[in-house]
Formats: sequence, C-alpha cells, structure tokens
Amino acid sequence: MRKHIVAGNWKMNNDLSQTEALINAIKKQVKTSDAEVMIAPTFTNLWQAFQSTKDYDVEVIAQNMHFAENGAYTGEVSASMLKSIGVNTVILGHSERRAYFNETDETLAKKVDTALENEMRVIFCFGEELADRKSGKEETVVEDQIKNALFHLEADAFKQIVLAYEPVWAIGTGETATPEQAQDMHAFIRKTLAAKYGAEVADSVSILYGGSVKPNNAQEIFSKPDVDGGLIGGASLKAEDFFAIVNAF
Ligand code: PGA
Repeated sequence: MRKHIVAGNWKMNNDLSQTEALINAIKKQVKTSDAEVMIAPTFTNLWQAFQSTKDYDVEVIAQNMHFAENGAYTGEVSASMLKSIGVNTVILGHSERRAYFNETDETLAKKVDTALENEMRVIFCFGEELADRKSGKEETVVEDQIKNALFHLEADAFKQIVLAYEPVWAIGTGETATPEQAQDMHAFIRKTLAAKYGAEVADSVSILYGGSVKPNNAQEIFSKPDVDGGLIGGASLKAEDFFAIVNAF
C-alpha cells in the first residue's frame, strides 16, 4: 500500500520563537489518520525543530538544498549538512524555487541525484502554469518536468521519491484544482511512470497534491484514489488547520 503523507511547507515564515510556538501547538494535536506527518521549517530553525520533535511522530524536512557536496557555494546548504542535523527528506523543485531562483529541470536532476546519493528522501514538486492549462498543455508540461528531472533514475530509486503535483495557479491563490482535476492528473502521472518503470513502481509511489488545500476541501481531494496526500502551504501555519488536513484521511 502507498504511504499517505501530509507535509507542511512553511516557506519563509516563522522565526525561532514562532517555530517553537507552532511546534508546541502541533504537539497538542491528536492524529487520528494513518498519514505520515512532515513539517518543513526554514533552514535556520531545522535543528531546533528536529530537537523539539525528536520523540514525536513528526518528521522535520528541508525546503531545498544545493546539488554540490560541499565547498565554495556561498549561501547554500548541502545534503550532508542536512543529514548531520537529522534531516533525511528534502522538498525539491517547488514552483517558487523554479520561478524566483531559476531552478531548471537540469538543476533539479542534479539535486535529486545528490539527495539520493546521500540516502535522502525527495519530495519532488512540479505542475503547470495557468496558461498551460488554458491551452490544454498541462499534461505535456507535467510529463516533461517529470521526465527531465527523474527519468534518468533506476526503478529502485523511486523507493526514495515522493511526487507532489502542484498546479502553479492553485498555490497560495485560494483557488484549488477540483478533486477531479487532481485525480485526472495524478492518474496521468501514474500512467507516465508505469510506461517507463512498470505498474509495480508506478503503484508504489505516493503522489501528493498541493495548492490551496484547506480543512474544508482536504477530505474530498484525499478521497480520490490516486491522491496519496498533500503538500500544504498556508494552512500548515496553524496547527489546528494543519491537523484537520492530516486527519482528513
Ligand atoms: P498553499 O501552498 O497551500 O499555500 O497553496 C502549497 C505549496 O506551495 O506547497
């Protein structure tokens, strides 16, 4: 069975004391679903977050990392640095990284390789822009993003990969893909994986949906057969809302 995952992407929010406060609030929530829970605070608060959640059923993950091992890359963070503080999962390819920091499929392929070499798990994000959907190109765009960054991998590597379909037009906009749109795209993604790696691999990879998931729409989105969880931005900044989504499975 595929894992259900709900991951909170805090983006560039929460200083140290706000991080501690949100984690304390998260600890008071009760999980009633089988979903794996992850939170992605910013780099400066990862260590504190890891320490505070050590004995708790929440995985602390990173929002990004560099592809180089270590060295002269001022301002960057490496996989081994993340691993050394207990972070074993990294989000790669978020649309904000692609849009504002020029991350290309080629860069992302390298980042994925580095993460896997360091035995990290990757939540790989991709998704079409509004213009792509309006012109009916959403499947081509998504297929290219996946192929360019991931299809050089061996089948076995997909044990370490979680996919996150995030239509750019739904991120932070309050506009959500309909559950049917999410399901259609997730089924297409699984079909694309199956064509390259076979049904067994395709059926084992968790595919998360991201883009304005809220307590009031999570259940319907998560009820779709190919939606295995969510990557949550805005709603992950409030413990109650985040756990309402976690418990929507
Ligand atoms: P949102 O962000 O839930 O605020 O739309 C999702 C994301 O960027 O991962």
